[in-house]
Amino acid sequence: ASASIDVRDWIRDIPDFPKPGVLFKDITPLLSNPDAFRTSIDQLEEQFRDRGVDVIAAAEARGFIFGAPLAVRMNAGFVPIRKPGKLPYATIAQEYALEYGNDRLEIHSDALAPGRRVLLIDDVLATGGTMRACCDLVNSTGAELIACAFIIELSFLGGRAKLEPSEVFSLITY
Ligand code: IMP
Repeated sequence: ASASIDVRDWIRDIPDFPKPGVLFKDITPLLSNPDAFRTSIDQLEEQFRDRGVDVIAAAEARGFIFGAPLAVRMNAGFVPIRKPGKLPYATIAQEYALEYGNDRLEIHSDALAPGRRVLLIDDVLATGGTMRACCDLVNSTGAELIACAFIIELSFLGGRAKLEPSEVFSLITY
């Protein structure tokens, strides 16, 4: 059944969200269709199953939606990357630039270590700022970053270049 599903057909365009001039890619139709959602996880698993990944890491909130089922499927652990003050144990933090101002992401200081093989995942690669911060967090633990994977890449925003030299994989490119 999965073979007949094109994940691209389950992404919806929302004009002027969250502000005028932005065409927002909405993944909720994909999430609400069991075959489409499963197919997206199938395709990510297929891409990375032979790479020895033992940890999936992802930033809240939409990264969790894809990261957790992929972790179960790949027999890997899941490590959450969160906004400040959400994680209960000792953390390491990374600042990153937003269009206006800065934000920060955190990971538990004992979540990763040298020898772990980490796949980072998020729903959308836009400017790459969010995933760049995630890469920096993983790298600062000494773990090995295998790749950054996305459902959607907005290639006209150039985020891929910001993630160099990491491998970047996306199911759908606009
Ligand atoms: P970046 O840091 O500019 O690459 O933005 C990526 C982050 O913003 C991701 O965590 C996405 O969830 C979110 N994002 C940016 N653009 C979109 C979009 O069109 N649809 C859904 N999420 C988006």
